[in-house]
Amino acid sequence: MTHELRVKAVSQVTDRKPLPPKVPQRLESLWATDVFTLAKMQASLPKDVFKSVKSTVQTGGKLDVSVAGAVAAAMKDWAISKGALYYAHVFYPMTNATAEKHDGFISVQGDGSVITEFTGKVLVQGEPDGSSFPNGGLRSTFEARGYTAWDVTSPAYVMETDNGVTLCIPTVFISWTGEALDKKTPLLRSIAAMSKAATRVLKLLGHTEVAPVNSSCGAEQEYFLVDAHFAHSRPDLLLTGRTLFGRSAAKGQQFDDHYFGAIPERVQVFMQDVEERMYRLGIPAKTRHNEVAPGQFEIAPFFEAANVASDHQQLIMTLLKSTAKKHGFVCLLHEKPFAGINGSGKHVNWSVGNPTQGNLLDPGDTPHANMQFLLFCGAVIRGVHKYGPLLRAVVATASNDHRLGANEAPPAIISVYLGTQLEGVFEQIRQGQTGSSGTPGVIDLGVDTLPVFPKDPGDRNRTSPFAFTGNRFEFRAVGSGQSVSGPLVAMNTILADSLTWIGDQLEGKLAAGESLNSEVLAVLKEIMDKHSNVVFGGNGYSEAWHKMAVEERGLLNLRTTADALPILKADYIEELFTRVGVFTPVELESRFDVYAEQYILAIEVEAKLVISMAKTIIYPAAVRYLSELSTAIASAKSIGIEMDTETALKVSSLTQSLLDGVSKLTSAMTKHDFASVEEHMQYSAQTLRPLMDKVREYADGLEGEVADDFWPLPTYQEMLFVK
Ligand code: ADP
Ligand code: MG
Repeated sequence: MTHELRVKAVSQVTDRKPLPPKVPQRLESLWATDVFTLAKMQASLPKDVFKSVKSTVQTGGKLDVSVAGAVAAAMKDWAISKGALYYAHVFYPMTNATAEKHDGFISVQGDGSVITEFTGKVLVQGEPDGSSFPNGGLRSTFEARGYTAWDVTSPAYVMETDNGVTLCIPTVFISWTGEALDKKTPLLRSIAAMSKAATRVLKLLGHTEVAPVNSSCGAEQEYFLVDAHFAHSRPDLLLTGRTLFGRSAAKGQQFDDHYFGAIPERVQVFMQDVEERMYRLGIPAKTRHNEVAPGQFEIAPFFEAANVASDHQQLIMTLLKSTAKKHGFVCLLHEKPFAGINGSGKHVNWSVGNPTQGNLLDPGDTPHANMQFLLFCGAVIRGVHKYGPLLRAVVATASNDHRLGANEAPPAIISVYLGTQLEGVFEQIRQGQTGSSGTPGVIDLGVDTLPVFPKDPGDRNRTSPFAFTGNRFEFRAVGSGQSVSGPLVAMNTILADSLTWIGDQLEGKLAAGESLNSEVLAVLKEIMDKHSNVVFGGNGYSEAWHKMAVEERGLLNLRTTADALPILKADYIEELFTRVGVFTPVELESRFDVYAEQYILAIEVEAKLVISMAKTIIYPAAVRYLSELSTAIASAKSIGIEMDTETALKVSSLTQSLLDGVSKLTSAMTKHDFASVEEHMQYSAQTLRPLMDKVREYADGLEGEVADDFWPLPTYQEMLFVK
């Protein structure tokens, strides 16, 4: 890109008009029009078929495959009425992407005529050519088959793009031997395992009617919008989603004037467009606002059942990106697109509950309900303490490493924030002071009179990676571009493990005739005796905490993905997943392999791009400017004027350092003899990343010296502030 193009981009961006906003429609007439809902099934399916499907959807029971033919026929008719000619099994491979393979409804008859056809068999099972999806060695190429299988619990929908309408069927993706190759299979398994353990505990607590327990998820999605004219002139944004170079603008986010400010008009039209699509797809968009950084925004749907929420989250990411294009933006879901400016995360709000007992992480209105709440809350505390490093590992990506621990996002140390009041309750339990305390504001925990909590915990702590927020936990370390499935799988699994342990404790004692109240308290006390180290209410950003967490509390500070991912291979994690029935050792190992490879590749691509951009874009600009400076200095001298050479010397020395940096990085990239994947990851983290940062340092230095009309790349100021 030459400087002229940059100037042109600025003027084109300034001249842009927002797309005309669509005529607003009533929510009721938009809602779920593109979804094959239970209501639509009821209207079009034979009674017995509908009953069978509904029971599978609502209770998670096994699907009666014999009904598939009737469902497929009704689904096809509905999709065709919406203009679809194709259908796709949609699945979620181990990348964070959504994959789909399209097939036509067309069926050619013997006489050459065509009819539309969609059988139960193709609804239930598909066979995409899955050989090129990452499988971590689960399939060698000669047996490259992967199957997709219909997930009845997540509704089918039609996806309308400028290129047509497609019927989309959410599916799991498994190998021919049944191993999970995707992000949905383990999520479904983890929900089933958690439900089993939770149901047992609820029965032990004396409930006779207990519906299956599901987990819920509401994910707050942060993202950046950059005008397409700028983004398309930055190879780094295009290929890696972040700026590998770029000097901070004089103004950053220090004024906090963007946070919750008025949403720019063009952005608002974009948001409304996204929301309309979401409503049509049955995704309950609820909250939108400007985020902390300039050019950064957030969208949060109302929470839903975890499996559906996870599919919807994938759709939201797709819609954000595709709708942004229409509005002349590029939507960045990278965790750290701009150095020195807050990055983007995804807060995953998570709870568990069922129709009979309600939200199990909601403090109840009766002492009995409160005891139940404390038990489920205690189960989470135990899980986060035992398996905190796992929670760190499931949010470990090359891009999220820029955020975690950078004093803008939660630290890489996983602790639990409970709020002052609840922390006090658990502390009293730990100290065995559960009688009436008489202290104002302190809760009376006399066993028979467990009190009523006010619902609002009152205080919030933005620095905690895992915070209780009144009726749910909020996992804040998740990356903005990540699938929420991995974090949900981890949370459901550790909860299943804790609830199973609690069930074992209670079952024996209750059989021996002990009182429920005292046994629940004993279990809670044991949890606090062993696990209260993970509870932390202070400033998670502070140095003091980082030191205390590691040295006094025994928590791990896994700073990089290279440190965190190997946790997936630890014996106690393998044992956890096997016991709970979420991953076999082979599946878990394959995940490690895939994620490790993605990490290594991500850094490799960035490093290559650092080298090429430094050599072919930044170096030439610096040399041109230097040549102009030297010419000016020399000709001034020829007429007896002594010009200052400081800038020329500085540009020359920075340019030399840039070249040195590039050559160090280039030679570091030639190393390929690694003893293990772990060693390779560490090399990427410890050697390549710092060398890339060095090159950037010199390039950004040059950006501060080289004349603006020589500078080829859109600047931070332009990308973040020109609207
Ligand atoms: P904040 O920015 O204060 O954290 P938001 O209102 O932006 O809160 O987002 C909170 C998210 O938590 C929403 O998606 C909301 O639907 C979700 N949420 C609320 N209750 C639950 C629950 N019981 N389980 C899961 N998510 C929940
Ligand atoms: Mg939040």
